[in-house]
Amino acid sequence: MHRRQLLQLFGGLALGGVSGLRAQSRSRRRIVVAGGGIIGASIAYHLAQRGAAVRLLEKTEPAAGATRNSFAWINAGFSKRPREYYRLNHLSMLAYRQLAVDVGDSLPVQWGGSLAWFDRAEATARLERQVRARQAWGYPVHLVDDEEFRRLEPGVVRNSASPAAHATEEGNVDPVAATQALLDGARSAGAEIDYPCEVTGLDRSAGGLSGVRTTQGPFEADALVIAAGVATPRLAAMAGLGVPLKESPGLLAHTDPADRSVGRVVLAPGAHVKQKHDGRFVVGAALGDTAVADNPDEASPTDTSAERGRRMLDAAALVVPAISGATFDRVTLGFRPLPRDNYPVVGFAERQPDVYLAVMHSGVTLAPLVGRLAAQEILDDVRVDLLEPYRVERFG
Ligand SMILES: Cc1cc2nc3c(=O)[nH]c(=O)nc-3n(C[C@H](O)[C@H](O)[C@H](O)COP(=O)(O)OP(=O)(O)OC[C@H]3O[C@@H](n4cnc5c(N)ncnc54)[C@H](O)[C@@H]3O)c2cc1C
Repeated sequence: MHRRQLLQLFGGLALGGVSGLRAQSRSRRRIVVAGGGIIGASIAYHLAQRGAAVRLLEKTEPAAGATRNSFAWINAGFSKRPREYYRLNHLSMLAYRQLAVDVGDSLPVQWGGSLAWFDRAEATARLERQVRARQAWGYPVHLVDDEEFRRLEPGVVRNSASPAAHATEEGNVDPVAATQALLDGARSAGAEIDYPCEVTGLDRSAGGLSGVRTTQGPFEADALVIAAGVATPRLAAMAGLGVPLKESPGLLAHTDPADRSVGRVVLAPGAHVKQKHDGRFVVGAALGDTAVADNPDEASPTDTSAERGRRMLDAAALVVPAISGATFDRVTLGFRPLPRDNYPVVGFAERQPDVYLAVMHSGVTLAPLVGRLAAQEILDDVRVDLLEPYRVERFG
């Protein structure tokens, strides 16, 4: 798509949600971002692009948390409900296209969509209803028959001729490389990035936040963005804020590089599979509402043994036979930064107006849009309508 068309499409949709713009610019304030996962990296990138004075502090190394262990499927799929949350995710898919134009080839997104299906009649009927409902929301998804499926993904075997849902504009990304690309872009625009550097406390003066304490000494700050994934509640507590998360572990099995046989994200009844740019297969155990049903491994969601990993690959090889010829590499365990009600927490806290919170699942999908809108809220002293459902105050 042409760059100008993209800007019109994305700009028209996203900026429709902005309200209450005030004249005062905050762009000269010193902003510290705590957390170098994909969310902190995107916020730092967008702030720096706007000319703000940004310093990102990361406890260990970039993408060390959930981001590194993410399946990293970019989607606004059937689990993204209600409509306003679906819309946020869909807009972020469009924002990825814009970001890919801006950042260039270093943003390693693979487009081509996803293919999802079930082998049970009841689940297939539900899938068909979901496709129709999403089409009514304007989402680019449609049913494909078996012949079309085999044309799209000849390397995938199905033991069912049931229709599959092809969501054509979804994609997947290497989350570590994407985070690095955003940090590189932030640095080029003037941001300072420090790691290892853990934020350990906040300094306040009569006028509000004055700085942060860290393992590398103090830094002055007029505003703090907390994008620390599952560590967010601990940092938020330093500011007297409660951010309730629930535990949500997720396993992925990885192979060494293999010949290419899958182009799209494959959401099969027994496994979720993608193949990275470098040929490595990544297999998910259970993700969202297309999770594997009746899987005995569900009882041990943190088992990272090689045996468990091989079982995951065996299940995936029934769908993508090339996986049986690939060499098992490792199992990774990640913890989704999942707020208690499953929806993002984004925005300045009313009780601490110099502390901006950004913690969410589906953060790989949401990073481009959240980064852009967070920068707008921080620098322009505005509340973006699209983010209103996701304020921390909803938890009371
Ligand atoms: C198994 C699994 C599968 C997933 N699949 C998908 C998917 O398909 N699609 C999707 O969109 N999302 C997916 N997600 C969710 C997505 O990965 C996360 O929402 C996203 O990575 C969150 O990014 P983040 O930057 O908020 O957090 P993190 O990546 O966790 O980054 C937080 C960073 O903060 C740092 N930190 C912590 N404390 C401090 C401190 N005191 N000072 C400084 N730094 C600190 C940490 O070291 C860490 O690097 C998945 C997650 C998992 C675990």
